[in-house]
Amino acid sequence: LNGAVATTERARTAPRRIRIRKARVTGLLVVIAAIAVVGLERGTSSSSSITAAAPIHGPRHGGSTGRPGLGEADGAIPDGTSVFDDGIPGVAKLNPDLLDAVRRAATDAAGQGVRFTVDSGWRSRAYQEQLLREAIAKYGSRAEATRWVATPSTSEHVRGDAVDIGPPAAAAWLSEHGAAYGLCQIYANEPWHYELRPQAVAQGCPPTYADPTHDPRMQT
Ligand SMILES: [Zn+2]
Repeated sequence: LNGAVATTERARTAPRRIRIRKARVTGLLVVIAAIAVVGLERGTSSSSSITAAAPIHGPRHGGSTGRPGLGEADGAIPDGTSVFDDGIPGVAKLNPDLLDAVRRAATDAAGQGVRFTVDSGWRSRAYQEQLLREAIAKYGSRAEATRWVATPSTSEHVRGDAVDIGPPAAAAWLSEHGAAYGLCQIYANEPWHYELRPQAVAQGCPPTYADPTHDPRMQT
């Protein structure tokens, strides 16, 4: 709206006839600008509801379509969320020990120019159910879907015990340094998925499972 305001300021010093015409044009500009703003806000809110749910990586976490009714209260994470964003339930509801370890690691990584973002953290059972429903639609059966998407009962994310870290440079930093914080990659096919393994500080991280189907915790 800055342009319209500037036009009004100029119009005050202009001759009367021109001023009237400019006032009409200005009024029209204001209307057009208002429509544009409403349009932008609609576009932003609808796209943010999609992107909030979208940064769920990999087939295990299901697709990335918009999920009406599932918002931040269910663990949807806005793009660019940091591990320090206490206002985001998907971050705030992580296991406090896991969150503390991730924040210490993120602080040290930041000192080396690597920034951590949270792509997924705590998720509600409803959110996990939705991911599973999407996987059933994709893979054709619940039995096949549960090879790739945890159920609300088996998901470490629902328990608050897992965090998906991005971007890849941050996951790579954790792959090299995470064990010192007790942070371990669990699945070879999910380089972003980290869980707390306190014994890793002294012993290093345990071997990864090739994928979740090899994880005994995922057997239902
Ligand atoms: Zn994960």
